[in-house]
Amino acid sequence: MKVSRRGFFQVLGLGAAGAVASPDRSDASSPSASLGEGMGMLVDTTECIGCRKCEYACDHAHELTGQPPSAFEDLSILDTPRRMDEDSFTVVNRYPNPDNPEKPISVKIQCMHCLRPACTSACLVGALQVAENGAVVYEAWKCLGCRYCMVACPFGVPTYEYHEPFTPQVRKCTFCHERVTHEGKIPACAEMCPPMALTFGQRSELLELAHKKIADNPERYINHVYGEHEVGGTSWLYLAPREFEELGFLKLGPGALPSLTEPIQHAIFKFGIPPLTLYGLLGAMMWAYRNGDDPPVSHDMEGETNDA
Ligand code: SF4
Ligand code: SF4
Ligand code: SF4
Repeated sequence: MKVSRRGFFQVLGLGAAGAVASPDRSDASSPSASLGEGMGMLVDTTECIGCRKCEYACDHAHELTGQPPSAFEDLSILDTPRRMDEDSFTVVNRYPNPDNPEKPISVKIQCMHCLRPACTSACLVGALQVAENGAVVYEAWKCLGCRYCMVACPFGVPTYEYHEPFTPQVRKCTFCHERVTHEGKIPACAEMCPPMALTFGQRSELLELAHKKIADNPERYINHVYGEHEVGGTSWLYLAPREFEELGFLKLGPGALPSLTEPIQHAIFKFGIPPLTLYGLLGAMMWAYRNGDDPPVSHDMEGETNDA
């Protein structure tokens, strides 16, 4: 397979791919949902040098803080684990590498753009939706500010503009949807990444590439592409030299979370579950899921609720 990393399938996502599809909730929990389709990003953590250029590129592309490149040159903060916030759609963290202490492992994180996202499933009004090219996008004008998406996301990604008194928004990586679909560019972070640790392309092709890299360099990578199966698959995929749990990743099963959240959402309308109860239910489900328990509710939860 011929691969040019930075511009790998650069044209992906153009044209019709820019349309936003209505979330098909029945399909979202179906095993036949479109796994392997759409665009993706392969993050090779063995090539990441922890330069934070992706953070700057994202900040600049989305006019988040407006800070100059020099503001992102402090690399000492990589050692203190950080999460995204309303002004940072992506951050890089650094982890020790026992195999090579001179070369710690840097990991860029952002929204994973799940194939069957729990956030879209939890959103009562469709403010978060899956675009045809796989990007999970947000339409602020629809948002009620309920923040169920924040509770539902297994990766704890969405953040909220608590400081914004009038029009607070949910904030997260957009997969550079506007750049990709309307400007014909690749995501800003991938465009700027100096060692080309980020490869943008068709998800199915990226999976091929990832497995080829592992097969060609078994001493360099563990045999696991994070995101291939987790929570039903994600558009962002990762390669790593050590177990992902050592690098801040949660151990998550292959089950897509909409199969858990949708019955609760349906029950809201059917039985008028009050918001605080819903927060509690969603929170308990996600806590259990993130801690590796079996899914706390099943497909027939709606029936169980009915019996209650
Ligand atoms: S990582 Fe979270 S916010 Fe991003 S698509 Fe998945 S569920 Fe939604
Ligand atoms: S894809 Fe775009 S929005 Fe997402 S982290 Fe990269 S630059 Fe930021
Ligand atoms: S720009 Fe590339 S190499 Fe630099 S921190 Fe981001 S992902 Fe790593």
